[in-house]
Amino acid sequence: MQKIAENVFVETEFRGCNVGFVVTEAGVVMIDTPYIPRDAVKWRDEVAKHGTVRYLINTEPHGDHFTGNYFFEGTIIAHEGTRQAVLDASVEQLKEYLKQIDPESLDLVDKFNYRLPTITLSQRLTLYLGSHTFQLINLPGHTEFQLAVYIPEESVVFTSDNVFGRVQAWLHQALPYEWLESLKKIEGMEAKTLVPGHGQICGRNYIPEMSAFIQSWIDAVKAAIDKGMTLEEAQDKVSLLDRYPMQAGAEARANMLQRMNVARLYEVLKK
Ligand SMILES: [Zn+2]
Repeated sequence: MQKIAENVFVETEFRGCNVGFVVTEAGVVMIDTPYIPRDAVKWRDEVAKHGTVRYLINTEPHGDHFTGNYFFEGTIIAHEGTRQAVLDASVEQLKEYLKQIDPESLDLVDKFNYRLPTITLSQRLTLYLGSHTFQLINLPGHTEFQLAVYIPEESVVFTSDNVFGRVQAWLHQALPYEWLESLKKIEGMEAKTLVPGHGQICGRNYIPEMSAFIQSWIDAVKAAIDKGMTLEEAQDKVSLLDRYPMQAGAEARANMLQRMNVARLYEVLKK
């Protein structure tokens, strides 16, 4: 666990997304929850040392951000689209997945259910707790429903998966042009520290590099379309795997990820 600001703690080493929490005078606010149940239990013990969890924010509609909700107290806040994704999530699929990647976690999901957000937003929501402010802002990109969480008192933004800190990026539900716009907005937020959805903690000076990566993806798939390649041909040809490593633990999915990213951009850019 890293302390990245006076009252902000983050873990970047779990399998799945980065998770964090903010300690306010009126209790703890969590940002996302660990995907793997054994990590969630460890994280719960760590968070408990700092107070009671009052609110839990899920920043996006993918299971690696919300599955761990089950292990925590607190009122859950998310985008309306993320709430729908939690409603649609399958317990059976989760158990199948855990069987493959972390069988030791299976005991912990005996009575598992997905905990739903009970407060939702579509554009913006501001949460005031103790002397802290949490600005939740919908910034479409990695998906339509991404939330950035800006905490001005700590000069920190949790960017969710609109920023991948020097690891491969997932574009399988991306809105690529909106993503570039959203990155500009994050850069404009005056925060000292950014917590990406995955990968290393960074500063705003990383944003141009992240934007360049998304732009490279757009350019590469556009070039393939312009050459008249079919989707399958583009998937065989286009890869940006030389740019960054896969996040630790996800190495086996490297080629599948490239093909998914190409498929999504092909669909979006072909029009
Ligand atoms: Zn995601």
